[in-house]
Amino acid sequence: MSATDFTRRGLLLGATALATTAASPREEDIVGQPLRPWRRGGLDIHHIATGKGDSTLIIGPDGASLMIDAGASKTPPPASLDARPNDERRPGEWIGRYARRHLPAAGAPKLDTFLVSHLHPDHIDGLYDVAAQLEIGLLVDRAYPDYAYPQPLDAPFAKTYQAFIRKRVQSGGKVERFRVGAADQLALPGAEIRNLAANGQVWTGRGNETRQMFPAIETLVKDDIPDENACSTAIRLRHRAFGYFAAGDLTSHGFDGALPWRDVETPAARAAGAVDVAVAAHHGMFDATGADVVRALKPRAWIIQGWHVAHPSTDALERMLSRRLYPAPREVFATGLSPANVLAHAWLTDLMAAQGGHVVVRVAPGGDSYRVVITDNRDETDRVVSVWGPWPAAGSQG
Ligand SMILES: [Zn+2]
Repeated sequence: MSATDFTRRGLLLGATALATTAASPREEDIVGQPLRPWRRGGLDIHHIATGKGDSTLIIGPDGASLMIDAGASKTPPPASLDARPNDERRPGEWIGRYARRHLPAAGAPKLDTFLVSHLHPDHIDGLYDVAAQLEIGLLVDRAYPDYAYPQPLDAPFAKTYQAFIRKRVQSGGKVERFRVGAADQLALPGAEIRNLAANGQVWTGRGNETRQMFPAIETLVKDDIPDENACSTAIRLRHRAFGYFAAGDLTSHGFDGALPWRDVETPAARAAGAVDVAVAAHHGMFDATGADVVRALKPRAWIIQGWHVAHPSTDALERMLSRRLYPAPREVFATGLSPANVLAHAWLTDLMAAQGGHVVVRVAPGGDSYRVVITDNRDETDRVVSVWGPWPAAGSQG
């Protein structure tokens, strides 16, 4: 793979976008100013950068909200990134505060829906602090109510989570198991969220039909039983022409042909089809975002939610950038990148549009175009660092 396989069009496009936004200061984001508030009819997708795990806040066209994950890994630096804004609060507290700042102002701040992609600390351990700050309407995860598939979860963080769920249900809170194939479970009026995959079950693209990739668990030797990542939930969000893909830590790795059924990400991506914006599954690690995933999604913008020194892997980043897998221009945005990761493959990280900060996708009212706005995560001012686009929304039609 030579450097000529990549192009670097983003800075020029970004500069054009800045000139455009400066002409309409009340309507669009301006570098150096705080992120403008959500606008009715618009769809905002905030990838919140705490340096400790994933969290995504989605605000739909009518103001309804969905949060996906609230991570709080306890892995300390330098293996993890520095805590952002700092370590005076826990990651979940920062996430809750972020959501309270950005949710539409009317009424008490509330998350209408919370989706748990899978039960790992860098996706769930901030949930409890978020729930302390914000009412959660409906909580959806992959394994409620028995948490028995593909095998019982007995790690301490999984037990803490199940205790939280039990308490929530006892006090009247709503919890549901993620229904693969459904387009009416994760409600975001004005947009459609299709449940693509979880637990090895994948939507076929026809009606609500699904198929199961995993063999019967009792037929597998212990080492081949799918891990928590492979059971992650995947979704496609559509708002008119705009499309977005997010799949937690789902993987496409089939162990070099030994276990091809372990690749759930590829059929999920094929069911999704082309999108405008895709989150690189499993933080851009080697075992996700396989070549066929890239070919199927071919997004204009990739987002890597990185918190560990290993995020992203060289090979996954190379695939995201490869013009051989799809020729169209694209940008890669990371919520965080460690200095060691940059050292490991600077020839690739130099091609990224952003190496840290909150990554906010803002789809214009009507859904015809979108921008990507990077904001400073070193404090709570939400100061705009760069603006990318506007790009025409076309992915979900492709
Ligand atoms: Zn993870």
